Amino acid sequence: MAIKSKVDAKYIYSFGGGKADGNESMKNLLGGKGANLAEMAGHKNLKLPVPPGFTVTTEVCTYYYDHQKTYPKNLEKDIKKALSEVEQLMGKKFGDVKDPLLMSVRSGARKSMPGMMDTVLNIGLNDETVLGLIQNSGDARFAYDAYRRLVMMYSDVVIEKAGGMEPAKGKGIRKLMDERLEEVKKERGVSLDTELSAEDLKKLVKEFKSLTKKYLKVEFPENPWDQLMGGIGAVFASWNGKRAIEYRKIERIPDDWGTAVNVQAMVYGNMGEDSCTGVAFTRNPGNGDHYFYGEYLVNAQGEDVVAGIRTPSPINNESKNDHSKDLITLEKFMPSQFKELDEIQQRLEKHYKDMQDIEFTIEKGKLFMLQCRVGKRNGIAAVKMAAEMYQEKLIDADTAVMRVGPNQLIELLLPMIDPEEEKKNKPIAKGLPAGPGGAVGKVVFSSEEAVELGLKGEKVILVREETSPEDVDGMHKAQAILTTKGGMTSHAALVARGWGKCCIVGCNDIEIFEKEKYFLTKEGKKIHDGEWLTMNGTTGMAYEGVLELSNTDLNKNTSYKTLMTLVDKAKKLGVRTNADTPKDAEQAAYFGAEGIGLFRTEHMFYGEGSEKPLFLLRKMIMSTTVKERKSALNELFKFVKKDIKATLEVMDGKPVTIRLLDPPLHEFVPHDKEKLQELSKELGVRMSVLNRRILALHENNPMLGHRGVRLGVSYPEITEMQVRAIFEAASELIKEGKKAFPEIMIPVVMGKHELRHQKEIVDQVYLEVCEKMNVQSIPYLYGTMIETPRAALKGDSMATVADFFSFGTNDLTQMCFGFSRDDIGGFLPKYLDLKLLPEDPFVSIDQSGVGELIRIGVEKGRGIKPKLKVGICGEHGGDPESVKFCHQLGLNYVSCSPFRVPIARLAAAQAAIEEK
Ligand code: PEP
Ligand code: MG
Repeated sequence: MAIKSKVDAKYIYSFGGGKADGNESMKNLLGGKGANLAEMAGHKNLKLPVPPGFTVTTEVCTYYYDHQKTYPKNLEKDIKKALSEVEQLMGKKFGDVKDPLLMSVRSGARKSMPGMMDTVLNIGLNDETVLGLIQNSGDARFAYDAYRRLVMMYSDVVIEKAGGMEPAKGKGIRKLMDERLEEVKKERGVSLDTELSAEDLKKLVKEFKSLTKKYLKVEFPENPWDQLMGGIGAVFASWNGKRAIEYRKIERIPDDWGTAVNVQAMVYGNMGEDSCTGVAFTRNPGNGDHYFYGEYLVNAQGEDVVAGIRTPSPINNESKNDHSKDLITLEKFMPSQFKELDEIQQRLEKHYKDMQDIEFTIEKGKLFMLQCRVGKRNGIAAVKMAAEMYQEKLIDADTAVMRVGPNQLIELLLPMIDPEEEKKNKPIAKGLPAGPGGAVGKVVFSSEEAVELGLKGEKVILVREETSPEDVDGMHKAQAILTTKGGMTSHAALVARGWGKCCIVGCNDIEIFEKEKYFLTKEGKKIHDGEWLTMNGTTGMAYEGVLELSNTDLNKNTSYKTLMTLVDKAKKLGVRTNADTPKDAEQAAYFGAEGIGLFRTEHMFYGEGSEKPLFLLRKMIMSTTVKERKSALNELFKFVKKDIKATLEVMDGKPVTIRLLDPPLHEFVPHDKEKLQELSKELGVRMSVLNRRILALHENNPMLGHRGVRLGVSYPEITEMQVRAIFEAASELIKEGKKAFPEIMIPVVMGKHELRHQKEIVDQVYLEVCEKMNVQSIPYLYGTMIETPRAALKGDSMATVADFFSFGTNDLTQMCFGFSRDDIGGFLPKYLDLKLLPEDPFVSIDQSGVGELIRIGVEKGRGIKPKLKVGICGEHGGDPESVKFCHQLGLNYVSCSPFRVPIARLAAAQAAIEEK
C-alpha cells in the first residue's frame, strides 16, 4: 500500500443521513466511538438514526503531539466542509442567530476509557444564538440551562484543564461554579437543578462567565467557531491528562495510540417530558442473562445517567431492581419508541455478534442512537454469554473461547461469602449488586487512603457517595467499592465491572460523614474508618465485621462447563499444577489439571502435621557423621513415603513431578535462642555444638549457595532416601491395583555431570526397590529443572541424561537478570515508573531475555531428543501472556497453582486459536 502523502491525507470522516465515510473496522483511525458511529449510520444493514457529525482521526492527535501541538495544514478547511454537510442534514446553521445548530465534542480512543477524557456539549451557544434556541425550542429554561452547562464545561475542560492550569484541590472552576449553583438553589429554596427558572439560569450564565474571567483570566469565547476549535484541542490535550495517563497505565494502553475527536450534532433528552436519555445493554452485563437491559431518565442529559445523581428508571420489567421496581418503564411510558429501540438493539447484536452497550436519546418523541460499543461485562457474564451465543449459533466455538479474558475466569473461582455464615448475619445495608463475589476489607473514605493502604498490602473497601475518574487508582487498589449513589450504569459500576471487582452501588441505606470519617447505617450504627466490612457484590448486601469467604461450586455452572469443553478441544498445551499436598492436588484435579508439574517435597516440613518430620530433618541437619545422618534419614523415610504416596494416589496415574529437596539447609534451623535450646534438649546435643553447626551452615548468598542438586551431591544419602520413598510408594500403589506415575526432578542443576551423579543413585535404588518389593518395573521418568542460565545453554548435553526438562522460571529469571526474587520490591516500583522494565519479570516471562534462554534450552534439548518432554513450573505458568509464549515455543505443558489452572487452560486455547 502506498504511504499517504501529507497533501491528500484524510483527517475527517463524516457520518449521518444514511451514509458514512468510515466503518467499524477503522477503530485505530477513528477510535472505537467514531468507528461505531460510522457503522451504525452507514452500514447497509443498519442505517440507524444517528445524529450527523464527523470524526477527527487519531492521526491528527499523533500529529498534534509530534508537531508542538499544532494541526495539519488543511484541517480547519476540512472541518468547515464537514460541518457544512452536517448543517445541510440538520437544516440548521452553526452560529445562526435564528435557529442555531449546536454541536458536541467528545473523545474516542481505540479502546474505551470510560470518563477518562473530556467532553464539551452545546457548542455554538452565545448571548445571541441562545435567543434563537429559545425561539425554536419554545423553552427559555432549557436554553439557558444548556448555555450554563456549556460555560461550565468549556471553562473547566478547555480553559482550565487543557490550558494546563492547576488549581488547588477543591478550587477548580467547576467546583466554584457548582458551589454557586448550590447557593442559588438555596436562595430559591429548591433542591433540584430543574426547579430553577429561566431567569435564575440566565443570571448564572453571566455569573459563570465572570468567574471564568476572574479566576482563569480568560473571557469565555462568544464565537462558535472558536468554541469548536477550542473543544477539539481540549480533547487532544486530555489524552495526556493525569487521569487518562493513570488509566492507560492500569489498562496497559500504549501512550502513542492517541484519541480521535467526535463532533456531532446535539440532540436533547432534556427538552421536556416527552424527551429522555438512557443507557442499555443487549444482555445483562452483570450476570449474562439474555434480555434487553437498561435504564433511562426522563427530561435529562446522558451525563445525568452516568453521574448517578437521580435514580434512573428501568427500560422494561426485566431491568427492574429493588430501587426502581416502582418506577415506570420506558416500555410503558413510550411504547412505540421502546419498540423501535428494542428492534434496533436486536439488529445491533446480530450485526456485531456480541453484546452491545448502547446510548440513546429521545428528543420530543424521536429516537436517536448516540453510541454503541461492545459492552464491558464481568467474568460470570462473559462466560455465560460466550457459551449461550455459541449454543444460539450466533458465534462459532473459537469465537466463544476468545470472548472470555483468562483473568476474568478468576471471578468464577472467586470466593463468595460462606452461605452458612451469611445466613447467620444480618446485613447492615443493601444496595445494587454491581460487581459479583465476596470481599472483606477495612473501610476507607478516600481514594488516596485506599492507594496508601493498598500499597502496604492492606485490604480496604472504598466507600464513597459516588466515584469519578479521579478515583480510579484507589478503586483499583481496593478489594471492593461501595457507593451510596448511582445506578447499575454509574461510573463505579462500569469500572468495577470491567475489572471484575466486587462492587455495590446506590446503597442509600447508609449516610457518609466524610469529614468525621464514618458512615451511619439506617439503624443508627456508626462504622468508622479502619473498621472491617464484608460485602456480597452478587446480592448487594453489606455486613459489619469479617465474614468468612468460601469458594463456589463450578460443577453447577453449565455455561462454564460448556466453555471449558470448547477450551480443551482447542488447546494443544497441557496444563498441570504445582501442588505440595494431596488436598491441593485434589483441588487442582477438580479445576482440570492434567498432572502435577511441581511437587516441592520440602513443604512437608511446614504447617499442619509437620512437627515430627521437621524434628527429624533437623536431627539430620545437625548430624556430624554419615552414620548419624543416615539414621535420622531412616526415621524420616516413612513420613516422606506417606506424603508422596498420598499425592500419587490422588492423581491416579497422572504424572506427578516430584522435585528433590531444594532449599539451603539453614532454612530449616530455628533462629531464636529459646527454640534452639529446645532443639538441643530434644536432640541431646550441646548448645555449643549446635551453634557451631549453624555457623557452618551460614552463607552470604544462600540463593546461589548450598541448595538444590548441590545438597544431593554433598549428601548422596538425602537423594537416596527420597528416591527410595518415591519408588516404594509407587510400587505399593501398583501392587494395590492402583496407578502411579512419578517423575523424579533434580533442581538447580548447572550441567550434565551433576545429573549423571544423581542418576547413578536413582538407578541403584531402583534396582534395590524392584527387588525388595518384588516388582518387574516401576514406571517413572528422570528429569531436570532448568533454572540456571548455564543449564539452558547446555540443553543439548543435559538432554543426553534427562527424560524431561522443566523450566524453573522463578530462579531462571533471578539468575538471568541478577535480580533477587526476594528483594526486587525495593527497586521495582521505580523501574516500572521510569519504564526501565515493562512489568515485573517475576510475574510475566521476560520474553526477549529469559524467554530467549528457554528457546535455546528447548531447541538444544530437542536437537538431541526430538520428543523431549518440556514444561515450565515457575509462577509464570499461570500468567496468560506467559502461557501463550510457552505455546509458541512448543512446550508440552505449563504448571501453575491450582486456582490458576482454568486460567492457564483458557490462555492455552486462545494461543492455539490465535496461531490459526
Ligand atoms: C523456580 O525456580 O521456578 C521453581 C519453580 O522453584 P522454586 O520456586 O521452588 O525455587
Ligand atoms: Mg527454583
